[in-house]
Amino acid sequence: MTKLAIIVPCFNEEEILSQSIKTLSDLLKSLIKEKEISNDSILVFINDGSRDKTWEIIEKHHTKNPHIKGISLSRNFGHQEALLAGLYNTTADFYITIDADLQDDTSVIKEMIQNAKQGYDIVYGVRKKRDTDSFFKKHSALCFYKLMKLLGVELVSNHADFRLLTKKAVDTMSTFKERNLFLRAIVPLVGYKSTNVYYDRKKRELGTTKYPLKKMIIFALKGISSFSAVPLHLITLSGIIISILSLFLMIWAIIAYLNNSTIAGWTSLMSAITFFSGITILFMGIIGEYIASIFIEVKNRPLYIIDKTLE
Ligand code: UDP
Ligand code: MG
Repeated sequence: MTKLAIIVPCFNEEEILSQSIKTLSDLLKSLIKEKEISNDSILVFINDGSRDKTWEIIEKHHTKNPHIKGISLSRNFGHQEALLAGLYNTTADFYITIDADLQDDTSVIKEMIQNAKQGYDIVYGVRKKRDTDSFFKKHSALCFYKLMKLLGVELVSNHADFRLLTKKAVDTMSTFKERNLFLRAIVPLVGYKSTNVYYDRKKRELGTTKYPLKKMIIFALKGISSFSAVPLHLITLSGIIISILSLFLMIWAIIAYLNNSTIAGWTSLMSAITFFSGITILFMGIIGEYIASIFIEVKNRPLYIIDKTLE
């Protein structure tokens, strides 16, 4: 039988948590009854340094229901870190991560489990439409996915952190030791067989978003800077282009001088500016290339991941 762990990060979620715990434990109960998952399956709530009654609510439900487990972090570490704390400190066959506000549709959880049983190690929850988002959130998200694609980062569009991972996938993910966490870009690097399930995302019923605009921008920038060295390569490229252009500019300045169509000092000044700006950007690009290599080295990602072997 398959042991399922549903991992729920919680940061100041006192308004909605009791309701979410009830929905999830009812779901767990029915999945156990239908023999989809084993009786020792669990819900794991990670308290990410909440300053309200979140942890007290988790404790209260834990005493009443043995399926409910809790992990409390010493302070607020952030959503991604809370997810890892849950994944790496729980043993199960299948792991599903979902936000505490249950905006993601819990009714596709059964479909996720069935897919995993058919041999998929990663099942992504993908939003069908974005009509519950504001105009700004919808379009900024779409631009972000396009930009990431341009920067060579593989992402599943319209997928956040609602997904199923098998034990094999979680174990492999734990070999990625990086500290700038952007899980939705790490998971595709894990590889293995993956599939999507589609759902409609609801509006948050109670409480407010824990991802205000500022946090969202920081998160997006982290996603770019920890997965793409393309901006650094762009410096080298522009250095080369500007050096070539400045060479032509210099030739033109000298020709103008020889034609006597300049005032004194203009040619030497022009030549110095074009020469040194070309060289400066080119040299910055060279430094950038080394930084790009260091960037890849320090991540220390696995060089290969073996899926199956025949002996
Ligand atoms: N969260 C967390 N730590 C944080 C911020 C958020 O654990 O520092 C959790 C939060 O409790 C929720 C999930 O991350 O379970 C996603 O947050 P939210 O639903 O507010 O984001 P949104 O849906 O608005 O993008
Ligand atoms: Mg939410």
